[in-house]
Amino acid sequence: MKRHGRYKPFVPDRIYIEEAVRESPWTQRILVHLPHAAVTPIPSLDQWEAPPGGNSILLARQRGPFLRLCPGTSRHICCLYQNLDIAAGCDLDCSYCILQAYLNVPMTTLYTNLDALFAELDEKLGRFPRRFFRIGTGELSDSLTFDHFAAWSGDLVHYFSDKSNAIIELKSKNTLIDHFVRLRHNRRTVVSWSVNAEAMSASEEPHAPSLQERLDAAVEVQKAGFRLGFHFDPMLYHPDWAQGYRATVDAIFSRIDPHNIAWISLGALRYPPLLDEIIRENHPESEIVLGELLPGVDNKYRYFKPIRIEMFSRMYQWIRAYSPDVLVYLCMESDEVWKRSFGWSPKSSAGLKKLLDARVRD
Ligand code: SF4
Repeated sequence: MKRHGRYKPFVPDRIYIEEAVRESPWTQRILVHLPHAAVTPIPSLDQWEAPPGGNSILLARQRGPFLRLCPGTSRHICCLYQNLDIAAGCDLDCSYCILQAYLNVPMTTLYTNLDALFAELDEKLGRFPRRFFRIGTGELSDSLTFDHFAAWSGDLVHYFSDKSNAIIELKSKNTLIDHFVRLRHNRRTVVSWSVNAEAMSASEEPHAPSLQERLDAAVEVQKAGFRLGFHFDPMLYHPDWAQGYRATVDAIFSRIDPHNIAWISLGALRYPPLLDEIIRENHPESEIVLGELLPGVDNKYRYFKPIRIEMFSRMYQWIRAYSPDVLVYLCMESDEVWKRSFGWSPKSSAGLKKLLDARVRD
């Protein structure tokens, strides 16, 4: 079985900075943390062509809104999550990463006009005081993978600590917790780890910290009183999937108190047809069995329904054996798959949102 190499946090050797964010305190903080990186100013991103290759990042102004409702997928139950687009791109290079097909930025980009982000959050949370927002930064990047030099986790944990109608979820495969773990958080931050079967993690996420390292970080975060989440997503069908996923469930519950777990999600590998070729090209050593996937009603490739149902229902039983009440939910599945996997369903996206909100409202 492949093993994870020693994890090394990403250190860019060049930073491109758009003029509009040059003086931003969040830009300046990154420059202080990366004193050896070469800096290249860019007057404007219009007509700028990113040089190919290299180990570079771009600090830019977020032009659109930071907050976006997850677009979901038609005829599937969605958790109605709000994505906070603070960065686009990721260094961890997981073989199955959807960003390989989707990202529309010239290079890994960190948005450092965070004054606008917090103003937008103030406005939105203030305008809808009775609505509850579950917000996460882990959609277009990994929430913590740049945290050793950007240190945004501290800003976010602090900002959300006094909000009554919102929580922030930091979703990661990383272990970079130093910038927030000692802060006052008032249980308004959920720190979540994406996890997998050990063999799949080693072969498909080789540049990320190992499962053991992620769990070590989760234990530290648990000690500091945070709520935790775990995302088995994407679950990958492979010859020893049952032993592999069960071992990960066992490892989590051997170290984490179920009362501290806000939620556990399950999602099987799914991707648009375009990604098939990209995975084969970018990750020729990937052990994902692409031949097992079929196009679904939303034109995304997925495992054959009975395979998904078997994986989800066995996972549900293993988790339930440890905890009768931790919330386990499916990401982007139909009412039918919910019922056949778990024996119940939240019936609608609004129903699932209500269950998830109830885990973290108080
Ligand atoms: S950690 Fe997430 S965002 Fe980063 S490469 Fe892996 S799947 Fe993509």
